[in-house]
Amino acid sequence: MERVTVVGAGVMGKGIAYAFAISNFQVVLNDIRLEALQKAEADINQLLNDSFQKGFLSEVQYARAKENLQYDMELASAVKDADLVVEAVIERMDIKADVFQKLDKLCKSDAVLATNTSTMSPTEIGAQTSRPDKVVAMHFFNPVHKMKLIEIVRGLETSDETVQFAKEVATKLKKEYVEVNEFPGFVTSRMNCLVGNEAMNMLMEGVASAKDIDKAIKLGLNHPMGPLELADLVGLDTRLRNMEYLYQTLGEKYRPSPILVKYVKAGRLGRKSGRGFYEYN
Ligand code: NAD
Repeated sequence: MERVTVVGAGVMGKGIAYAFAISNFQVVLNDIRLEALQKAEADINQLLNDSFQKGFLSEVQYARAKENLQYDMELASAVKDADLVVEAVIERMDIKADVFQKLDKLCKSDAVLATNTSTMSPTEIGAQTSRPDKVVAMHFFNPVHKMKLIEIVRGLETSDETVQFAKEVATKLKKEYVEVNEFPGFVTSRMNCLVGNEAMNMLMEGVASAKDIDKAIKLGLNHPMGPLELADLVGLDTRLRNMEYLYQTLGEKYRPSPILVKYVKAGRLGRKSGRGFYEYN
């Protein structure tokens, strides 16, 4: 297995493509928006340069990773040779369903189709295809090149072979993995969304400033990042979709904080738009 296609070149797709490219996979990155694909290419090249200059990549690794990467807006040509496709489009079931219906038709019959969904059902996603046994969630974390974990989530029909395959891929990427049975939000998003939402509610209630809420959680509870800076990194639009899905499936305690809803309406999406709970240059 050496050919991977990543569908969706946003915050996660570009990080996932980078992680595969430096681990010697041939990677095609796809997006329906040219602008997103061009930005992803620029960001990946920047990260490769920085990693090389800081000594994290040798000259050979750097050159090979560049050769391993292709960018293609045409889904049919992007996925035709793939042994594995990782879907990283926005967190909406209707869009993921449409992507998986197309992938099922366009990919080789033995290709494994993985979703990077943070919360949604790999069973429902797998049911869009004629190969639900080959559909699995591989939940990467942001930023992908720094985060060690992949949550591997088994849908109802996912085969043992596919789970084993996902574990081997994780190992080749030098990541750790956990195996999780399907449940909305898996382990990590279910927990992280609640913590983030509580921080947002505290900010709204005037309990403390964003900076002091984050500082308290980092220094008092030993989290490496504060929940508000983490939400800005994730993207507030993505976080809101995660919360809405968890609210629908798990109930009241996941009701999205009103301040999150308001910020997304205002276009404050976090780092990717330059402003969220903090401002970025
Ligand atoms: P994003 O909004 O940054 O990027 C999504 C990309 O998908 C966009 O570039 C968009 O143009 C593209 N897209 C939309 N429809 C498409 C289609 N039909 N075909 C190809 N490309 C399409 O979103 P993101 O933050 O990268 O999130 C992607 C997925 O990863 C979501 O399911 C999200 O829940 C999950 N996730 C996000 C994070 C995070 O920290 N942001 C972490 C783990 C998992």
